[in-house]
Amino acid sequence: MRIVDMNWMQVEEHVKTDDRCVIPVGSVEQHAYLSLGVDMILSERVAVDAAEPLRVPVFPVLSYGITPYFKAFPGTVCLRQETAIAVARDVLDSVRRAGFRKVLMVNGHGGNNPIGAFAQEWVSENPDMAVKWHNWWNAPRTLAKVKEIDPLASHGSWMENLPWTRLPGVAAPDLRKPLVDLEALRVMNPEQARRLIGDGNFGGYYERPDTEVLEMWRIAVEETRALIQGPWPQ
Ligand SMILES: [Zn+2]
Repeated sequence: MRIVDMNWMQVEEHVKTDDRCVIPVGSVEQHAYLSLGVDMILSERVAVDAAEPLRVPVFPVLSYGITPYFKAFPGTVCLRQETAIAVARDVLDSVRRAGFRKVLMVNGHGGNNPIGAFAQEWVSENPDMAVKWHNWWNAPRTLAKVKEIDPLASHGSWMENLPWTRLPGVAAPDLRKPLVDLEALRVMNPEQARRLIGDGNFGGYYERPDTEVLEMWRIAVEETRALIQGPWPQ
């Protein structure tokens, strides 16, 4: 359940019997023909779908992430690492103050991994807490399904093209893009990166039938739910 559908008294009662919560982490950045919000939409939705039957509260997604390489694409918003980590620290301090002790951070964007490294450091300073950092799209079962459908799948491709990230009236090209040179990309400035990436898809089909993407989604939800369930350190 979404924590914004609870009031503070309900949270106070809730943590007495269940001290788990979920914090989704996303990004607002170019995703080729898809919504700029793909990473924030998917991380929040997979978290909400996973937590629903467990009645574990899900905080609103941390929408903005660390995405310096997409700065030349209009609409992309990039936090500096220190900003993103400062926000994560304040949010973790806040959920701890509310009585939560087990936190699953569901991340939708690879560039945010420094926040996951920080979370480990934060736990060392708050040893009554446990925090799991979960990259939902490359967790083992989800990734295996993705590779089965299309091993080229990458940023901005079909694996992020779901009914809730598509834009009305925007058609995805009916082709399979060769993988961009990721090694070259890593040493480029934002303008060079934009020239290399072109429309924004890193490689793979732009779209697959909903039967396939929704099967991937079902696995991603299950895999995320299992992490909320446990095991958690005692
Ligand atoms: Zn993405």
